[in-house]
Amino acid sequence: MCGIVGYIGKRSVAPILLEGLSKLEYRGYDSAGIAVYNGSEIQVEKAKGRLAVLSEKTNGGQSVNGTVGIGHTRWATHGEPSDVNAHPHLSQSGRFAVVHNGIIENYIALKKRLESKGFEFISETDTEVIAHLFEYYYKGDIMEAVTKVINRVEGSYALGVLCVDYPDQFIAVRKASPLIVGIGEDENFIASDVTAILKYTRNIYYLEDDEIVVLKRDGVEIYNMDLEEVQKEVFTVNWDVSAAEKGGYEHFMMKEIEEQPKALRDTISPRINNGKVVLDDISLTTQDIKNIRKIYIVACGSAYHVGVVGKYVIEKMCRIPVEVQVASEFRYCDPIVGSKDLVIVISQSGETADTLAGLKEAKNHGARILSIVNVVGSAIANASDDVIYTWAGPEIAVATTKAYSTQLAVMYLIALYMADKLGMVTSGEYARYVKDIEALPDMVAKILENKDELQYLASKFYNCKSIFFIGRNLDYAVSLEGSLKLKEISYIHSEAYAAGELKHGTISLIEEGTLVIALATGSELFDKTVSNVKEVKARGAVVMGVTTENQDDMDTVADYVVKVPQINETLLPSLTVIPLQLFGYYVASLKGCDIDKPRNLAKSVTVE
Ligand code: GLU
Repeated sequence: MCGIVGYIGKRSVAPILLEGLSKLEYRGYDSAGIAVYNGSEIQVEKAKGRLAVLSEKTNGGQSVNGTVGIGHTRWATHGEPSDVNAHPHLSQSGRFAVVHNGIIENYIALKKRLESKGFEFISETDTEVIAHLFEYYYKGDIMEAVTKVINRVEGSYALGVLCVDYPDQFIAVRKASPLIVGIGEDENFIASDVTAILKYTRNIYYLEDDEIVVLKRDGVEIYNMDLEEVQKEVFTVNWDVSAAEKGGYEHFMMKEIEEQPKALRDTISPRINNGKVVLDDISLTTQDIKNIRKIYIVACGSAYHVGVVGKYVIEKMCRIPVEVQVASEFRYCDPIVGSKDLVIVISQSGETADTLAGLKEAKNHGARILSIVNVVGSAIANASDDVIYTWAGPEIAVATTKAYSTQLAVMYLIALYMADKLGMVTSGEYARYVKDIEALPDMVAKILENKDELQYLASKFYNCKSIFFIGRNLDYAVSLEGSLKLKEISYIHSEAYAAGELKHGTISLIEEGTLVIALATGSELFDKTVSNVKEVKARGAVVMGVTTENQDDMDTVADYVVKVPQINETLLPSLTVIPLQLFGYYVASLKGCDIDKPRNLAKSVTVE
């Protein structure tokens, strides 16, 4: 995780770095730092805590003079958050300053070797070896040093490197961690994502692994590992700078919850044409689909929960067996996956380390990879055979909402597309599905009109110590997401259980006053879940039922009932998740939690 930004131009660099870092704080926020060439040496300022501490320390950047520099906001992997462990890290003599996103896996061996050569380490980070390695290999030619360093380090990195001997440039390189280059007029940038530099330019280079970038005021040169210059296509970002700003909302999370109708529309509309699902993005032929032996869905966190929905939906509609696995398990379980299998990987950032590793594992076994990704040009997108982008726009809050919703929409489109190619849906069913998928954005908008109801319910329960979510099949899949949303931002212990499974152990935790949120939407299983509601009520639980408008029976068994509009049952997860997002948000808000930056977390998990 962590955010990197770098600038060279004619303006004062420090305020630009601080501003860029403020847009990247969602990626890490335990400490921050900047390094600026001030005319004679590299001046480094760092501070433990939020970026505001660094900003105050440097008077908003005014106390640091210079026009070339690099900055970092950290999510610690090696060494506690502290001033000394914060980036940038200097080489022994102060000749090099380095910011790093990722993990150097062989840092212990490198550190020992450098110590034996007389280098002294002051931090606990893996990153410091990079700074010293630069100095060790530098014999007057920085490009030679870069290639030598890259050849020695193993793991993942996005690096920004400043060198006293090259005051009119800085260097950047990446491998398996994100980094983009922004091209301006007499100024150029690097950043972990475009939001940090969008105020200045929309013209971007997406970097491939091990491309080495030299940034100067009047231009950007990109080289491969053989130091041959590479020509790259300039990509123009078409979304507006306001997309990555709070726009009057107290939190990004609420802004992003409210953006869901638009995000869904942007994701769905281009893929439905004349009543047909059109997936131009993918090259799977009808024969390829017919040949699929098994589908694996591999993802982490909320994206994994999308996969759980996907399993139910694809199996139901296509009758192809689907196995959904968390990526950190899949990558090490020696999966029985091969060339007859399709592996769907899901990741908002497209850089989730475990998911990327799972993808590579599947690819090594010959499987075909279809990814669902939000960030264009990201590592997972680049490594896949086919990519379907969610057009959710930038998602800043750590707890995902609109990325989850758009991933779900893509999952429905894939399922319907494949079911059609397999001849598993009648034309009437197909037309109804399409119509209902197209109706989702408006239905979500309608649910969002009832925010007050969820705020009220949150006010009744925000002091709970433990909250359970139960449901069956698709309702269970949504329960997983509702529970995760609540715990990640409100810190209330919560579990999601398959409603029928509770009585096999966990029901012992239900006591007088325990809140159970029971999702019961599917008509086939409604009565079964109602029985489970009765079971927990008999043991003292307070129940909040989540169901559809036509299910009046819930009113008689639950203490509180939240209703969503009726739609094709397969699509209901898109609707029932909305009140759960709102509930989590309002509970966290009433508890005074830092909603966009919950403790111990960061977005885009680029470490194992
Ligand atoms: N591994 C480095 C550290 O712990 C970088 C972590 C990050 O990507 O923020 O300092």
